[in-house]
Amino acid sequence: MTFTLPPQFASRARVAEPLSRHTSWHVGGPADIFFTPRDREDLLSFLRILPSEVPLLWLGLGSNLLVRDGGIRGVVICTREALVALERRGERGVHAEAGVPCAKLARQCARWDLGPAEFFTGIPGTVGGALAMNAGAFGGETWRQVVSVETVDRHGVVRERSREQFRIGYRHVDAAANDEWFLAANLHFEAGSSESDTRALLERRRQTQPIGEWSCGSVFTNPPGDHAARLIETAGLKGLRIGGAVVSTKHANFILNEGAATAHDIEQLIRQVQQEVARQHGCQLTPECRIAGEAA
Ligand SMILES: Cc1cc2nc3c(=O)[nH]c(=O)nc-3n(C[C@H](O)[C@H](O)[C@H](O)COP(=O)(O)OP(=O)(O)OC[C@H]3O[C@@H](n4cnc5c(N)ncnc54)[C@H](O)[C@@H]3O)c2cc1C
Repeated sequence: MTFTLPPQFASRARVAEPLSRHTSWHVGGPADIFFTPRDREDLLSFLRILPSEVPLLWLGLGSNLLVRDGGIRGVVICTREALVALERRGERGVHAEAGVPCAKLARQCARWDLGPAEFFTGIPGTVGGALAMNAGAFGGETWRQVVSVETVDRHGVVRERSREQFRIGYRHVDAAANDEWFLAANLHFEAGSSESDTRALLERRRQTQPIGEWSCGSVFTNPPGDHAARLIETAGLKGLRIGGAVVSTKHANFILNEGAATAHDIEQLIRQVQQEVARQHGCQLTPECRIAGEAA
């Protein structure tokens, strides 16, 4: 890439930053430029000077992203220290910028006595990532709470878009326009939340999922009327291993990096699980996690 970073942005940009430091799987090669804006204005100024041929990848907490070992050509924009405003707007409205952690949104909604937001508690990503993925848990889903979003395009032009401008599905969002990313969401809740619900949901996760280990949560979406975990488990794939990557024995839809896995190990294991489940059950599993970057 021939792009030279203007000096006014140099202090917030790291060159050849290993993305293994920024993903929950702890794998991923270097980003050419890893940019952490100071704030929203800084981000918009940066986008306005960025040549349109430079590829862009937005990153929240990297909890649903498999970055390949060769890394990312172009610029990675890291939202989690820049877009952190979280405000109550009116009686039941909440304005949350893209870098706000979902767990913080859940806690603050509980303090404001607004819900349902408990389901955000155990999702270890940002609001931006939750919007991109339509993240959800225990019956709750991000976009059910969305009234509108603020987006920005690669020229730094900000727009407000209503929920109706997006096609929303299970762990899927069709963006209103190509090359627009989320700056913030205007969310709507009802009065009433329950802290005991939050504790119960966290406890349920701890009992059923390998929490605290290096993963991206569920690797595959559930096919209609079934569960990816059931299909993987009954295909006898729990404990299947490639290099340092292994199918969790606690929850079959989790792939763990035991410490020394490469992104290649994980991607190969994803493919092998898909092939085996297709062979034994005739069902093609679709990865929920996003896969980005170049092979080593
Ligand atoms: C232990 C564990 C448990 C999990 N449990 C759940 C769960 O219960 N439910 C669930 O849905 N998910 C779950 N996940 C997956 C993950 O936490 C969610 O998908 C989360 O919403 C991802 O947010 P993030 O900020 O980490 O996004 P990232 O992983 O950083 O990015 C994910 C995708 O979103 C894009 N993106 C990020 N920010 C923006 C933005 N501002 N604008 C546009 N695109 C953006 C990225 O480019 C990428 O394509 C779990 C993950 C782990 C590790």
